[in-house]
Amino acid sequence: MTPPCPPQGENSLAHLAVIGDPISHSLSPVLHNFLIAHFNLPFSYEALHVRAADLPKLVARLRNGELAGVNVTIPHKQAIIPLLDELLYPADRIGAVNTVCVVHERLIGHNTDASGFQRSLEKARLEVSNQEVLLLGAGGAAKAVVFALLAKGVRSIYLCNRHEERARQLHATLPASEQNKVRVISWDGREKHIDTHGIRMIINATSVGMSTAENDAPLPAFAFREGMVALDLIYNPAETCFLRQARQAGAVTLNGLPMLIYQGVAALELWSGKTLEIAEDYAALARRMQAALP
Ligand code: NDP
Repeated sequence: MTPPCPPQGENSLAHLAVIGDPISHSLSPVLHNFLIAHFNLPFSYEALHVRAADLPKLVARLRNGELAGVNVTIPHKQAIIPLLDELLYPADRIGAVNTVCVVHERLIGHNTDASGFQRSLEKARLEVSNQEVLLLGAGGAAKAVVFALLAKGVRSIYLCNRHEERARQLHATLPASEQNKVRVISWDGREKHIDTHGIRMIINATSVGMSTAENDAPLPAFAFREGMVALDLIYNPAETCFLRQARQAGAVTLNGLPMLIYQGVAALELWSGKTLEIAEDYAALARRMQAALP
């Protein structure tokens, strides 16, 4: 494990933050402040609204010790990479960073989204080995999901993005041995594929559904079938239009809250250098986070 990010002085707290644009929807402060109090860690944690143009200034605050580490969310997960000193596995494979640690004055980029997604599948007892999966989206989160699904032995991923070129770029970053398991399909052909390829699991890794527009969904309602599994990486709102339509069709649904919790625990483990076991406190934490949603 990477050495911990120590507090700046004997009695002072190390300052951590989540950075993004927008950031007001983020539950990361609720999550991390719960865990910091629960495990009595010497950290403070806040949300910082950072626009793309201000990313270098934020990185300077990491370099001068004002901040001991950050979580990175939309839209900075890839943009921050050139400003860091090193990427550790699997961030280097995924090409997206959601956690930055400062170790011996070097900025180290990590990705805990993939392990967070894997643990959320395990917690919900959702089996992906030998499954055919339709994955909507090709941004930073989708990259972590592709990595996690391949690691879990998925049979095929049909990768589909509004701008197809971005899906093709993601595909090109995969090792040759894994490229044949991932097929890029057109955004317009996505519903047809569900029936023609017997797809039973659909994952929304786009940001469609985050807005307050109630009927904003990346798939039409008729695409869902009874017994399917529909996963949305979005956790706010707790039930997106995508999940509501899937549930109404009789699908098993899961939102992004468990993934958020597990990626956050993994980030705190990196910053603290401790193994944090939240098994018993998971329900209390999930309730508190659910209650913090609008
Ligand atoms: P990115 O900005 O990297 O990617 C956004 C994705 O959404 C792209 O695939 C983009 O397609 C697509 N998209 C945006 N608007 C539309 C639209 N109107 N129609 C179709 N597709 C659209 O974001 P991330 O990958 O980092 O995050 C994606 C989602 O996952 C977010 O909602 C985020 O909150 C969630 N997330 C949840 C996590 C969790 O722990 N639960 C962790 C990480 C992310 P295009 O390329 O064509 O623009």
